[in-house]
Amino acid sequence: TMSLMPVLDEAAVRVAVRARPLLEKEIQDHCQECVNYNSERAEITLGKEKRFTFDHVFGPDSSQEEIYLDCVKPLVDSCIAGYNATVVAYGQTGSGKTHTMGSANSNVIQESEMGILPRVIRQLYKSIEEHKNAEFLVKCSFVEIYNEEIKDLLHPETPSKSIFIREDANGDIILAGVREEVVTSFENMMKFLELGSTSRTTGSTLMNQHSSRSHAIYTIIVQQRTIEDCSSDVETITAKFHLVDLAGSERAKRTGAVGARFKESITINSGLLALGNVISALGDERKRGQHVPYRQSKLTRLLQDSLGGNSRTCMIACISTADVNNEETLNTLKYANRAR
Ligand code: ADP
Ligand code: MG
Repeated sequence: TMSLMPVLDEAAVRVAVRARPLLEKEIQDHCQECVNYNSERAEITLGKEKRFTFDHVFGPDSSQEEIYLDCVKPLVDSCIAGYNATVVAYGQTGSGKTHTMGSANSNVIQESEMGILPRVIRQLYKSIEEHKNAEFLVKCSFVEIYNEEIKDLLHPETPSKSIFIREDANGDIILAGVREEVVTSFENMMKFLELGSTSRTTGSTLMNQHSSRSHAIYTIIVQQRTIEDCSSDVETITAKFHLVDLAGSERAKRTGAVGARFKESITINSGLLALGNVISALGDERKRGQHVPYRQSKLTRLLQDSLGGNSRTCMIACISTADVNNEETLNTLKYANRAR
């Protein structure tokens, strides 16, 4: 059980920044790069004097593998050891969140371009293979939070009204009404990712036609039973790994959103705001043991047992290097800096 497990001494939350290279269109439009990095010192400078320090800073030449190995692999290992983990990708639309997290197309794209999700799933099955003295049961769910409503992406016919977030006596968060699927292989799990991705809600804004206006949360549940040779004791450990592709962090004004879509971007920002408040409270030594405002949004409520406490979290703040995105990039760096 969790109570017998040692308390993690690592920082509860680590924050990384990843800058994507200029896109073809931005080069054609004569955009300039406005960001400087010092990966060794994990420093990033916007313009001339706005300097920030994070746990990791990845420049535009960084590879998918680097990000995975530095930020995510340790979380997979701790998940196998029984600890909950969360990886969130934050940033304005077009900054590289989905590219970084990885999508369902990952089994057709080149190995080097594979994002975090397929790498996590691959490592998970590799680790399970290596743990001969335990029996594993792996399940997954895939939900989206859109306007504070939860949608089961693997069972889109389930009405949002019948989905509730509950907390059990152990403090574990349960998504009642969402059906978890048992998975048996890498391919199997990628299928579910693909299935869910096609049911994701997308809207169009001036900024990015396929801009995603919702938070997508892919959850891997790892249950293991340790089999002790000379005793009848069976220990069952459950750990959750949440992989979150957050909604675009851009301000409503910038995207030219009006009417219903404008309302929508305000709600989205309230989820991101709550996440920022929670992570900031967790990271602040002086606030240890104090109230953490998980209940401010569905997003933070859902992630409650996997953010802080005895779980590990990595936030990857994605930014564009193009000068036209200067304002949003600064907002993202401020948000990520506050989380740290
Ligand atoms: P978001 O999910 O934040 O809206 P995307 O992941 O869709 O952003 O990225 C926007 C565009 O930038 C895509 O065409 C994507 O392929 C490209 N891109 C993002 N990050 C990188 C990167 N590190 N290297 C190369 N291209 C990238
Ligand atoms: Mg995206």
